[in-house]
Amino acid sequence: MEFGTTSEQDVFTEELRILRAAKTDVANGKTPEQRQYEQLVQHYEKLLKTTMKLSRISDIQGRTLKEQEQDLKNAHADLQNLEQLRRQLISDISHELRTPITSVQGYIKAFLDNVIQPDDMYLSMIYQKLLTINQLISDLFQLSTLKANQLPLHFKRTSVPQWFVSIPGKYELEADRQQVTLLLDPVISVEHSLGMKPETAILFIDTVRMEQVVTNLLDNALKFTPRGGTVRISGRLSKSPPDAHSLFKPEKTIDPPFWFTLTVEDTGEGINGNDLPYIFERFYRAGSAESRAVSGAGLGLAISKEIVNQHGGQIGADSEPGRGSRFHFSVPAYDGTEAPSDADRTVPVNL
Ligand code: ADP
Repeated sequence: MEFGTTSEQDVFTEELRILRAAKTDVANGKTPEQRQYEQLVQHYEKLLKTTMKLSRISDIQGRTLKEQEQDLKNAHADLQNLEQLRRQLISDISHELRTPITSVQGYIKAFLDNVIQPDDMYLSMIYQKLLTINQLISDLFQLSTLKANQLPLHFKRTSVPQWFVSIPGKYELEADRQQVTLLLDPVISVEHSLGMKPETAILFIDTVRMEQVVTNLLDNALKFTPRGGTVRISGRLSKSPPDAHSLFKPEKTIDPPFWFTLTVEDTGEGINGNDLPYIFERFYRAGSAESRAVSGAGLGLAISKEIVNQHGGQIGADSEPGRGSRFHFSVPAYDGTEAPSDADRTVPVNL
């Protein structure tokens, strides 16, 4: 029998029952021997009750110890995991930096050895490589400050339709250059049951950071869509945010009255089902060798995911390889005509 188990408690209970029955029998007789016997039974009963209490305490302590042991095991596994991630990060960063640095080193060595002359073409190539290095370092810095909740975000009350219509203007030139049609759905669709007009919908966002997310999604859509293709931007207000094959939900669950979802859909090469779950991970690049050649360092979506997360929102992607991809992010939305001050309070601040 294990100490402190239920079966042990059952035995104690049974013994107590027998003792009480014995006490009743003795109480009916009352000879001197029987009185002595009754006292003995009472002492034994006290002893038994104390033993039961001790057994319960030891049982509780045993369970606490087991829980603590499990907590320690979990903490150890987390630490090992973190160490593995740290090593992987250092290896990824070294790999990403090595390529452009080696190339710059090669050009400069060739100048010094008089193999080539430092003309405009070579200098501009070196300049481009240095820009890549600089961009990589600032992306990494931004990602780490976002992850550590140290990037100050400035949430501002923003009108949904005003913000939405301002989006495509900045990307029309790039779309024209790539001969891709950029379309913006003229109206923001509203889920029927909401019974509100999109004109009154407001968001509390850091417009500069949100712009960064939109830029990343549109840059990617334009980058991975061949000439003659289409990139479409649409907006929707709904009670719940949409689902996706690859989806990242906010760490802190909030329950806003509505969600505003911005979708960027393209008719590009799409993303393989095996790659799709990983594209929001740092340094992950999917696709063919040609598409990898146009990819950046694979940090854009990881940064976008963090920014959306800091807004209490979610980001996701679906794709049909060969036909196109659909990226969307959703952020909490409020009806500006109703209780805007309540909405104010539900906005994540000081993240
Ligand atoms: P990158 O700077 O490499 O574009 P991202 O983090 O923005 O980094 O994207 C990660 C990877 O996801 C890309 O390298 C690409 O393989 C894939 N990807 C992202 N957007 C698209 C898209 N619209 N169509 C096809 N592939 C995409």
